[in-house]
Amino acid sequence: MTEKNDNHASRRAVLRAGLGLVGVGMAMGAAQEAVAQTAQKIPQSQVQYQNHPNPKHPGQLCSVCTNYIAPNQCKLVQGPIAPIGWCIAFAPKA
Ligand code: SF4
Repeated sequence: MTEKNDNHASRRAVLRAGLGLVGVGMAMGAAQEAVAQTAQKIPQSQVQYQNHPNPKHPGQLCSVCTNYIAPNQCKLVQGPIAPIGWCIAFAPKA
């Protein structure tokens, strides 16, 4: 193998290694996002979440709660949630 071929081979090796690191970084980012969306939030059963309005608390809907993230997530409670849902952690938007 000539010196020129050796340089090309090592450039390819460096590029392959770099692409591998990018792939690992992307996989870690997806895993962190998955953890943020589930493990750190409260299970629905612990806050008496229901996917429909609570007649005892008229007007208290997820869609008007400060913790609501459109279209179907909550900052505190594991999702998905319904915009017309309710739970004991309801807090009205300011
Ligand atoms: S009422 Fe508020 S805190 Fe409870 S699930 Fe709906 S958006 Fe989240």
